[in-house]
Amino acid sequence: MTHTILVTGSSRGIGRAIALRLARDGFDIVLHCRHRRDAVKSVAADIRQLGRQVRILCFDVTDRQTARAMLEADIAEHGTYYGVICNAGITADGAFPALSDDDWDNVIHTNLDGFYNVVKPLTMPMIRRRSPGRIVVMSSVSGLMGNRGQVNYSAAKAGLIGAVKALAVELAKRRITVNCVAPGLIETDMTEGEIDDEALKMIPMQRSGHSEEVAATVSFLCSTDAGYITRQVIAVNGGLC
Ligand code: NDP
Repeated sequence: MTHTILVTGSSRGIGRAIALRLARDGFDIVLHCRHRRDAVKSVAADIRQLGRQVRILCFDVTDRQTARAMLEADIAEHGTYYGVICNAGITADGAFPALSDDDWDNVIHTNLDGFYNVVKPLTMPMIRRRSPGRIVVMSSVSGLMGNRGQVNYSAAKAGLIGAVKALAVELAKRRITVNCVAPGLIETDMTEGEIDDEALKMIPMQRSGHSEEVAATVSFLCSTDAGYITRQVIAVNGGLC
């Protein structure tokens, strides 16, 4: 039986790379985006070419009611997922004294509440499935060490680490593993204009990372071989911390 994995925020960047890698590694995929339907449709076409089943869900992860309704409807029609990659996220950087209330709220709502809004409706169905499962949550080097200008983002990404560690304990007996991946500086739309000599000097490997390098780690965590890895934070950051 082929397993299905939902990848949130898979229209571009790291999420897109994860969806493609998981498809290449034999999983069927539920793609997800907020409003870039054309971009996500092109990812779907690439996945079909790999011979895997794919479908698309579009909702804002901050919209709890819609997220729950769409996920429950999808599960009712197609069956429970083997795994979920909670990847959708945003930044809104600024020095703390100048940070706007909106920038605080949006970053917390998308990154941290977004995890709750997506993973909560999936958890009981995954438990009832009575089979191994995988939950992988995208944290960040900012959540591990805190970054200047990212008090909001660091708080959300550190919060995810706490949530993952607690949920991993709750689900361990059910054979559902729960882990964080914490990327460093990865070349995507999110980091456009941020990758300069000063930033690279901080990285022991002296280069930025590629989405595919994060995707490889996520796919390993979803594999049968990773069945005894849970409650962990796996950093993919060129030695940044
Ligand atoms: P991108 O900005 O390239 O892509 C973000 C994705 O998240 C898009 O698919 C976007 O959908 C989706 N998304 C954003 N907000 C929402 C929302 N409210 N509801 C639904 N979907 C949403 O980001 P990256 O690929 O760089 O980042 C992916 C994850 O990795 C994020 O969680 C990020 O915090 C984390 N990360 C990234 C790092 C980096 O250096 N790039 C480093 C560490 C962590 P749409 O296209 O529809 O807008």
